[in-house]
Amino acid sequence: MNQVNRTRRKNDLLGWPVIGWFFTNSKIMLGVRLIVLALLGSAIYFGLVYPTQETNPYTGALFWSLFWPFFLIVSMATLGTVFCGICPHSFVGKYLNRLGPQKPLPGWLKNRWLGFGLLLMAYWVPLYAFPDVLKTPWVSAVFFLVLTTFAWVMFYRYRNMAYCSSLCPIGTVTSAFSKVGFAQLKTDQTHCETCRSFDCTKACEWNLRPYFFEKKNSMGDCTLCMDCAQACNAVELTLTRPSKQLSQPSTAKEPMNVWVYVWLLAVISITMRFHHSLGHSAIKEDLPWVQAGQWLEAMMPVPMLDWVGVVALTMAVTLTFAIVWGTFAISARLIQMPVKTYFQSVGQFMAPLMLIGALSHIGSFFFLHYASDLMNAGYWLVGSAATAEPLATFRDGWVHLFGLFNYVAVIWALWVLHKRLGYLAVSGFQRATLWLISGGIIWFYLFLVVFRALIPSGH
Ligand code: SF4
Ligand code: SF4
Repeated sequence: MNQVNRTRRKNDLLGWPVIGWFFTNSKIMLGVRLIVLALLGSAIYFGLVYPTQETNPYTGALFWSLFWPFFLIVSMATLGTVFCGICPHSFVGKYLNRLGPQKPLPGWLKNRWLGFGLLLMAYWVPLYAFPDVLKTPWVSAVFFLVLTTFAWVMFYRYRNMAYCSSLCPIGTVTSAFSKVGFAQLKTDQTHCETCRSFDCTKACEWNLRPYFFEKKNSMGDCTLCMDCAQACNAVELTLTRPSKQLSQPSTAKEPMNVWVYVWLLAVISITMRFHHSLGHSAIKEDLPWVQAGQWLEAMMPVPMLDWVGVVALTMAVTLTFAIVWGTFAISARLIQMPVKTYFQSVGQFMAPLMLIGALSHIGSFFFLHYASDLMNAGYWLVGSAATAEPLATFRDGWVHLFGLFNYVAVIWALWVLHKRLGYLAVSGFQRATLWLISGGIIWFYLFLVVFRALIPSGH
C-alpha cells in the first residue's frame, strides 16, 4: 500500500473502527464476497432443484426478502453503490476479465438503455403482468442464472470491466441512485497534487480516476470495491450531507440518470401506490385501473395474466410521464429553456422521492414478511421443521409508522428541487413559481399518500 503521511479526517469512514477495518481489509472483503457468491449460487441451485414455493422457501426469500430490499434499496439510500462492492458478478468477473482476450466493447453495446430496458421489460412488466409466475423459485433462479451467465461472458470478453459501466442493469440503477445517500469516495487532494505513482488508478480495474471524483461531484461508475483504498491511504470514504451529489452541479456527463429516476418512480413508486396500496383499500372496486382490468379479464382472459396489474402499470407510467413532462415543459417555457435541458438540470429530485419513499414499504415489510421469510429459509436449509411467524401484522398500529418515510421523501425531493433551481439564473419569485410547478409529480405522490391514509383498508 502507498502509505502517505496523513491523519484521516473525522468524517472519513475508513478511519472509523469497525467500518474502516471492514473496507480496508482485503481478507474481510474477500470473505464477504465469497459469502454473497455462495448465497447467489445456492439460491439459483435450489431454485432449479426445488422449483415451487411449497417445496422451497429459500430461493424467493434470498432474492426478494434480502437482496432486493436490503442489499439494494437500503444500501443505495445510505452508502451508495456498496452492493456493487460485494457483487458476485463483478467479484468473479474480475478474474475472468484478467483471463479474457481484453477486447474493447463494441460501440453498439455501449448503451446503458440496453440493460436498463431489459430490466424494465423482463422484470418490472412481468412482475405486474404475471405476479404468480415471476416469484416462483424456478423462474427467479432461471432469471438470475441467465443474468449471471451473461455478465460473466461479458466480463471475460471485454476489457476494463466494461459490463459494469455500459450494460449491467443493476449497475445503472445503483450508480444513479447512489447519489441520494451520504457517502462519497474521494481522495485527499493535498497529497494527490504531488502524487506521481497514481496507485489508486492502477488498482482500479474499472480504469477510473478517484482523484477527480470530488472535482466532478460524481463517482461515475465506481463500484466501491475499495481496491484503490487498499492501494493508497489518501483515498477516503467521506460522510457528506445527504444527496450532496444530487443537489449540487456535476461536470460528469450522465444523461441517463434522470431517465432512470423517472422510469423507476413510475414503475415502482406510482404503480405500487395504484396497484398495491389503493388496490387493497375499501374503494378498490371503484378504481379505474381495477374496473378496466376486470373488463379486459372478462373480454380477453389469458391464463396467469393479471390484467388489473397491466392496466395499473400502464396508467401509472402514462400519468407519471405526462405530469413530469407537462410540468417541466411549462417551467422550461417560463424561463425560455429547452425542455430537455430543464429535465436534465432539475430532474434529480425524483431520486429521493422513489428511494426514500421505498423505505416505508421495506421498513414495514421487514416485520410483516422479510424477517420470517429469512428465518424460514434458514430452517429449511438446515432441515428443521420449525416455522417462524411474522414479527407483526397489519393490525399492529406501529407498523404503519414506517409510512412516515413517504413524507420524508416528499420533503427531501422538494429540498433537492429547491437546490437545483438555485443553479438556474432565475429571480426569487421565478424560483418559487418553478418550484411549485416543477414539483407536480411530488404533489401527486403526496396526494396519493394522504388519500390512501384517509380511506379505510379493504381487508
Ligand atoms: S455494475 Fe453490475 S456487475 Fe458491476 S458490480 Fe455493480 S451490480 Fe455487479
Ligand atoms: S475508484 Fe476505487 S472503489 Fe471505485 S471502482 Fe475504482 S478501485 Fe473500486
